[in-house]
Formats: sequence, structure tokens, C-alpha cells
Amino acid sequence: MLERNIHQRCLLGPGPSNVHPRVLAAMSYPVIGHLDPQFIELMNQVQADLRYVFQTENALTIPVSGTGSAGTEAALCNFIEPGDPVLVAVNGYFGERLCDMASRYGAVVHRIERPWGEVFSSEQLRNALTEHRAKIVCIVHAETSTGALQPMEGIADVVHGQDGLLLVDCVTSLGGVPISIDEWGIDIACSGTQKCLSVPPGLAPLTVGPRALEALHARTTKVGNWYLDLTLVSKYWGKERTYHHTAPISMNYALSEGLRLIREEGLETRWVRHSENAQMLWAGLQTLGLELVVPIDHRLPSLTTVRIPDGVDDLSVRRALLNDYNIEIAGGLGVFAGKVWRIGLMGYSSRRENVAMLLEALRKILPG
Ligand SMILES: *Cc1c(COP(=O)(O)O)cnc(C)c1O
Repeated sequence: MLERNIHQRCLLGPGPSNVHPRVLAAMSYPVIGHLDPQFIELMNQVQADLRYVFQTENALTIPVSGTGSAGTEAALCNFIEPGDPVLVAVNGYFGERLCDMASRYGAVVHRIERPWGEVFSSEQLRNALTEHRAKIVCIVHAETSTGALQPMEGIADVVHGQDGLLLVDCVTSLGGVPISIDEWGIDIACSGTQKCLSVPPGLAPLTVGPRALEALHARTTKVGNWYLDLTLVSKYWGKERTYHHTAPISMNYALSEGLRLIREEGLETRWVRHSENAQMLWAGLQTLGLELVVPIDHRLPSLTTVRIPDGVDDLSVRRALLNDYNIEIAGGLGVFAGKVWRIGLMGYSSRRENVAMLLEALRKILPG
């Protein structure tokens, strides 16, 4: 029990996920200067570990200061110049948000759409790109609003075939679902610490490949956002160590410990754990007579959407879970509001005992 009377919850929503005690402990290390040699050593380790979880050799791989949304802003603002055509694949809330963000940097946004819960084929992207050439193609790997996992095979070939850059939002997949930035040919990928990495919200891992770096250096206008300008930020994370903004020291301690836990577990083992626990959840929900929104072949292990049965009140079920069982799940966003529940099994929250506890609680709460 903490002083302010905030007690533990079992966090099974779309984020934040539960934080490992070792990560919480790391946040209480002494705060030191952001150019202290000890901190610089930690920065180097964080970058190396992020390359491991992203499966990339990209030198420019850093945690952006800010939540996942800041990472998405950084992924966009550095590569968009006013008037640039940007193609966004929209099949949920976060695709929609990418359109909004890109337009604010002056991009001419073209969208392709799929219904919520569905995914895109590379053919659909190819057709869209023949119609509108795009400097950047944006797609969400794990759509947290729908629970759909976008297959990435063949996507980069289509985008690179038209000389575009491929930007992928990996916020809800990094550290929980297989990702291989270099093998998949992704030019820009962004994530967040609070989902499958199980570190509190506050940092946003970002990786930028050589083709994207070239585009950054070929800009004729300044990046439209000083704080997230990678030409400046990369000088702090690179050899120069030039002051830009003060790194959130304690958050970087937390991320460093979170990444150490991933190294200890092993990335592949972690992916398998997320997949196995998700399958246990899916089977259990179906046994309770509940219907899953997304078909199995592109269902996301880290976030499951469940249809709320007719006659069942969304809020009162979630309130009972929280008040009587200490379990947090979430309702739907946008067109799914009031229609689905969203259940996250991310990072440290993805445990068999959590799945069992949630299923048992739902069995008791839902009308038989
Ligand atoms: C959570 C999420 C974000 C935003 O991250 P914040 O940490 O809330 O800023 C962006 N994209 C996706 C797919 C997400 O799930």
C-alpha cells in the first residue's frame, strides 16, 4: 500500500501494462546529470538493447522522450515536408490518428481503408500507390483499437518499388509479437514503453533506417517540431553528446531495466509466452460463450477484442471487474464504443494466472 493509497491493479487493458518490480525499483536510483559518464553508458546500453528488440542494426535507434504518441509524432515530423504526399492505411483508431498527425505537418494525406478488425493486403497497397505516389506509407502493425495484427510480408517491396518510405506504428507489438525491422525492410518504426515492454508510459522507442536518414538529410525545410527534430536529438544520442533537452533520467533507468528483463527472458521466448497466454484467453472466452471480433489468422496476441453480448451492460461489467476483482480491461474506441471489450495481455501482465483470474471473474459476473 503506497502512501497516497494507490493500490495494485491487474492491468489487462490496452495499456499501461503491469510493471515488473525490478523496473519500479530502477526508477528509484539516484538522479544524475544527463551528460554524466554513467548515464552515457546507460544510454549506449539502452540503444543496443532497443536494436535487439526491434531486430535492427539501425544506428539511429533511441527512446524518444514522451509517450508512444511522441514517438509517432517524431516518426512523422522528421520525414514530412509541407506538400509531401503521404499514404495512410486506416483500419482503426490509430490509423485515423496517423492521418491527423501527418496533416498537421502539411502532408497531403491519401488514405486507404479497411473495416475495423480487418487488415490490408500488399495488393491493396500496390493499387493505392499506383493511383497516388507517396513519399511515406504509414501502417499500424498492431491496431490496439481492433485487435488486428497487420501481416508485414511483401509490404516493404511494394512501398520501395514506388520509392516510398515505410513507416510502421509498432506501439502494441514491440516486445510481445514478432517484429524484425531489417528483415521486413521497415524504414521508420515507433513504439511506446507502456505496452508490451511493461515499462511505465513516458518513453517512445524509435528506429530509423538508412533510406529514411537520407530523406531526413535531403530536407530543404526545417523539421516542423523543435523538440522531436532528429537532426538535433541524434546529436545527443550520437557521438557529439550535445545538449538538446534533458533526458528523462529515471524513465531511462526504467527502460534499461525493462530491456534487461527482455534479454534475460529472450525475445523468442517472450513472443511464445504472449502467444500461449493469448490462446488460453481466447479458448476461455469462447467457453464462456463470448465471441471474438478478429478471425484467428490475423488476431493480435497482445490485445483481444470481444463482442459485448446483447443485454449485457458494458460499464457495469467493467466496474465489477475493477471494484470486486481489481482487474482493469477497457471498452471500445470509435465505432467499437459500447460494442466490444478490449483485453490486453502485454509484457509482465501476460501471465497464465492473470488469464485464469480474469476468466473466473467474468464467469461470475456475466449472466449465466
Ligand atoms: C497506445 C498506442 C499509441 C499511443 O501511445 P501513448 O503511449 O498512449 O501515447 C499509439 N499507437 C498505438 C497502436 C497504440 O496502441
